[in-house]
Amino acid sequence: MAANLGNVSMQIIDSHCHINFPELGEDIEGILKRMEENSVTKALCVSVQLEKLDEILDLATKYPNIYASVGVHPDNDNCEEPTTEQLVQLSNHPKVVAIGETGLDYFRAKGDTEWQRERFRTHIDAAKITQKPLIIHTREAGNDTLDILREQGRGKVRGVMHCFTETLPFALASIELGFLISFSGILTFKNAEDIRTVAKAIPIDSIMVETDSPYLAPMPHRGKTNEPSYVRFVLEELARVKELPVDVVAQRTTENFHTLFLNNESTESIL
Ligand SMILES: [Zn+2]
Ligand SMILES: [Zn+2]
Repeated sequence: MAANLGNVSMQIIDSHCHINFPELGEDIEGILKRMEENSVTKALCVSVQLEKLDEILDLATKYPNIYASVGVHPDNDNCEEPTTEQLVQLSNHPKVVAIGETGLDYFRAKGDTEWQRERFRTHIDAAKITQKPLIIHTREAGNDTLDILREQGRGKVRGVMHCFTETLPFALASIELGFLISFSGILTFKNAEDIRTVAKAIPIDSIMVETDSPYLAPMPHRGKTNEPSYVRFVLEELARVKELPVDVVAQRTTENFHTLFLNNESTESIL
């Protein structure tokens, strides 16, 4: 499986991680070294609350291959509530390439969830103004996520459905709305046959890979602390599912990341 990893030109990108979290933040140099050893050339460190944004911006400022987003996760109910103006202003940093992660999580939040929908709309408005893509987290809320994106986005937003665990109809509807699908380590789990079926069915042009580290470590590290270098296991599983060479899947998912987040910045270096 790892045979192609000796290819020095191969690049894999972790499209979603949280390397500022305490489990990983202590060993950034080690994380970057293992990324390099595994051809993982870039990682997008995703914001979940404004109080911790400085940690992410510091990493993105210090390391050229670490990118940042600005947003407040739908599971965080005890934190600063962002305004659209605030998200727009904070996303002005040169390494901020996305708004999020945002979305809806009805698995975690019970009772009245209108506050989640309102926060989601705030992020969509910021994405419209900045023209930056949205990073969307959705759990047990697929229909509402799509409805709100249609109503509030009005065809003027794009982005990614991260850590995909939804159905094929949801994936196809998302792609139609201009969204990519990002697969995490869950793709490698034994019981994730439904997700592999979605990965097989949708076009490679619509796919990215991620770790969502420190969570959801792929096989064979399931249950351990995850980190960006492990995205190669997700990529290898995706290649197996798509019946394509690993280096081809690496190149295509890397191009998709560049197109969505970096406006094709330095695409020539990956061809
Ligand atoms: Zn998430
Ligand atoms: Zn996340």
